[in-house]
Amino acid sequence: MFSKLIKLISPISPIGPIRVRIAPSPTGYLHIGTARTALFNWLFAKKHGGKFILRIEDTDLERSDKKYEKDIIDGLRWLGLDWDEGPHRQSERLAIYEKYLQNLLSENQAYYCACTKETLEKERQLQIKKGEAPKYSGRCRNFKIAPEQGEIIRFKIPPAEKIQFLDLIRGPIIFDSSLIGDLAIAKNLQTPLYNFAVVIDDYEMKISHVIRGEDHIANTPKQILLQRALNFPEPKYAHLPLILDPDRSKMSKRYSATSIQEYKERGYLPETLVNFIALLGWHPADDQEKMAASEIIRKFSLERIQKAGAVFDIQKLNWLNSQYLKEKSESELWQKIKELYDKKISIQNEAALKLLKIGKLRMSKLEDFLSLQESLTLPDYDSNLLSWKNTHKETTKEALRLAQEVTRTILVHEFNQKNLENQLMPLADNQGRGEFLWPLRVALSGKDKSPGPFELMEVLGKEESLRRINIAIEKL
Ligand code: GLU
Repeated sequence: MFSKLIKLISPISPIGPIRVRIAPSPTGYLHIGTARTALFNWLFAKKHGGKFILRIEDTDLERSDKKYEKDIIDGLRWLGLDWDEGPHRQSERLAIYEKYLQNLLSENQAYYCACTKETLEKERQLQIKKGEAPKYSGRCRNFKIAPEQGEIIRFKIPPAEKIQFLDLIRGPIIFDSSLIGDLAIAKNLQTPLYNFAVVIDDYEMKISHVIRGEDHIANTPKQILLQRALNFPEPKYAHLPLILDPDRSKMSKRYSATSIQEYKERGYLPETLVNFIALLGWHPADDQEKMAASEIIRKFSLERIQKAGAVFDIQKLNWLNSQYLKEKSESELWQKIKELYDKKISIQNEAALKLLKIGKLRMSKLEDFLSLQESLTLPDYDSNLLSWKNTHKETTKEALRLAQEVTRTILVHEFNQKNLENQLMPLADNQGRGEFLWPLRVALSGKDKSPGPFELMEVLGKEESLRRINIAIEKL
């Protein structure tokens, strides 16, 4: 029933072309939540031929930092979420906000408030004691307070006004203005605060749809009241569901709160993240999971976004990434691994490509290459490890001698998994598979767990394989 209503009013906006924005505050690194908001706005713009705008909300001078701005911009670029306009910075638009502040002040829709933090805190405590929901009492509303004495500029919230809006995801939402105290909109004419600057910018940038996290729902009625006071048209709103950790608590823990940069460093591909993040609160009608961005754009609609929280499932992220890795050639993967882990790489190109050939299906992120590589280094192991179960040392030694003999006869350019298997498996069948293959594998890896002996031999090459078998024989 409600979806019919939405269809009537969406997606084409009566107030002009579709223009959406991502408006991050540079007070922290780009994390999954902001990336998801950016992605959904981007998808919506792409789907409907609209514009996607990047606006940096850096009015909080104490908490904003250029390093965060850079991280956010780099992260959005890496994900491929290209914007059509921006980055606009609120810190570069102060004259615009000042003009509107002056208007509100001169129309007596806003006023300077002289209440100190201590006064406000006392007032709050008193209200709590009386069992009332705390809000600013409006104490300074009717005084003429000079700008120099003002602690803050407040907007007069009209009393007992119903504010109703149709959230494109959540349905009709109603607030009562009597629950909202006069709103702090600026510290002074040069320092606007969040709710005010957003309203001015959304208007000036002709934003048609505000698509943002559910944590902003309580700001929406305040912003609508400001729009009414300033005679601005009201954009449409869509509030995205919360992202939850696997235990269904609000996103905060290890994985979901991690910055996008960290996912990049651990070897997740941008196409994986875009695909995975798109599924945080949305899914296509056919329930397909692995989708390229172009396919997501085709299938995307606001109507298919859920209201319930979206659980962040790291297993699913790993699975998706392994699917994307599988499709890449070994040389493509090797290129990326070198870019990411240059200093940690200890093997040569040729061995690496062979290792990727045998190991790529076991990798869920590029970082896993480092442990694969680790499986190639020969530690100083105990000779007892070489014998399978209770096999006698001499029997083990004999098995390794046989293996050594046959291995010597295989030509270097034919030294691959398949040939090795063809030549050595008859011996294994003769000697007993455990008795033959176990010591060979341990001789090659020096570990109780590793890839199989033929895989290892192909990667190590003839010379190194023979050297390791020899070391084992000498240990015995
Ligand atoms: N700057 C706000 C934030 O980072 C977003 C504001 C908005 O989308 O309206 O949460």
